[in-house]
Amino acid sequence: MAAQPSNTPSTPNTPELDREIVAALIHKEQALLDDLHRRGLTEAALNERAGQLGLTSELIKRCRLAGTQPSLRTCVKCDARFLSAGPHNRLCRRCPPR
Ligand SMILES: [Zn+2]
Repeated sequence: MAAQPSNTPSTPNTPELDREIVAALIHKEQALLDDLHRRGLTEAALNERAGQLGLTSELIKRCRLAGTQPSLRTCVKCDARFLSAGPHNRLCRRCPPR
């Protein structure tokens, strides 16, 4: 199989992109945001993806209060990737805690 060209026209939702979106929004890194926009990710697409990941202002506030760093983790129950509020948070939003 030939390797896919890296310059795909649209921005697919890759784990790498998700991580960049999370970093850009949480740390308010303008350089990273600019870079994402330059690669064709619109403000609307970025916000939509952030919403899908569960990156809300509420989550950011929760993390600030807890002193933790939100990051992408894999749900221990269903293996979905989700935005975790910290090391204690291992279940995605669809899997209710016991
Ligand atoms: Zn889950």
